[in-house]
Amino acid sequence: MLRAIRIRPGRPARALRGHPWAFLGEVDFAGQPPQDGECVELSDVKGRCVGAGLWNGKSQIAWRRYSRRPISLDGPLLEELVTAAVQRRAGQPVCRLIWSEADSLPGLVVDRYNDLLTVQALTLGIDQRLGVILDILQRLLKPREIVIRNDAPSRKLEGMDVEIRTASGKVLEPSWMEVGGVQVKIDLVSGQKTGMYLDQLDQHANVAKLAKGRRVLDAFCNQGGFGLACAKAGATSVLGLDSSEDAIAAARSAAERNGLNASFEVANVFDWFTEHREASFDLIILDPPPFARSKDSVDGALRGYKELNLRALRLLAPGGILATYSCSHRVSEEMYLEVIEAAASDARREAVVLERTSQPADHPVLLNFPESRYLKGFIIEIRA
Ligand code: SAH
Repeated sequence: MLRAIRIRPGRPARALRGHPWAFLGEVDFAGQPPQDGECVELSDVKGRCVGAGLWNGKSQIAWRRYSRRPISLDGPLLEELVTAAVQRRAGQPVCRLIWSEADSLPGLVVDRYNDLLTVQALTLGIDQRLGVILDILQRLLKPREIVIRNDAPSRKLEGMDVEIRTASGKVLEPSWMEVGGVQVKIDLVSGQKTGMYLDQLDQHANVAKLAKGRRVLDAFCNQGGFGLACAKAGATSVLGLDSSEDAIAAARSAAERNGLNASFEVANVFDWFTEHREASFDLIILDPPPFARSKDSVDGALRGYKELNLRALRLLAPGGILATYSCSHRVSEEMYLEVIEAAASDARREAVVLERTSQPADHPVLLNFPESRYLKGFIIEIRA
């Protein structure tokens, strides 16, 4: 029997409409509160089961669902959920292997880089079960090493410390591996995110198909994923820009190692556009970080996105292509298209949408969980 909590009468709690979270103020319990990290059954006001979730009274998001049934998240269920997530990504050597709520494991994120894994425990409930989870991963996948990347600031919201360590306790040096046909140096211990932006791997290949014979600008390039794929596909020239010195150093050494003709510069993209109004390109990629991290920052984010798209459109020759992305879940696909339309209007460019793109299958959108629907993109062709 799980400890029981209820939705408070009169609360329009989103958990009643299929959302996997309940907020502290939305729920009630008799007697002592549940223990942080405990498995708890949530019911509606009529006593019908909404699901079982991990409790943490230190967090505003106090309950996160892992099952629709009132069962405990113990060894057998963890094994079942981890195995199912791994099977869904069978045959993908580099991918996000487990993605939190979208795989019914709220707070657990596992990335696979061939024979290496990174694990993030972002909720207390998952952190408390990490030993069991690591054992299951070892058994299923026999990785050479598992890096525990518990450095996400969101851990503090759950009352946890931050740390990075390897499962074996040994030092793991960065290593070269092939991703999408290009050798890249992966630093799972101190790279941005867990090493790479896995959610854009499909798009690197997709955009590279358009790159032959074009002069390419890869803005917000990180380690040069788009730019290197474009260079390999026969781009005339490639320039990548990013504000991170480490990312640019990695992009440069990858270009050299692969014998690819691509240059990379440390730059603030906004400033770079201001200083290079006369530049000209045939393919521009805009893949900025999430500008809208909170509800209040949406207006500012839309202004930032519009400015970027406007500047890019101005530098594109007729027949040129803009591949433009937003990873802010608060900015919907329609909102982002409106931003691009406003930019095209200001730039007085005639342009068509060649393709709408979305997030890859290893980052599935969980229905009724809008936070999981975050990445959208448009590939635009300039007619005149
Ligand atoms: N395109 C990359 C992922 C980009 S993530 C890929 O496909 O792998 C966003 C990147 O923007 C990060 O690398 C971050 O360092 C960089 N960044 C953030 N703000 C920036 C700015 N103002 N100018 C340039 N780069 C910036």
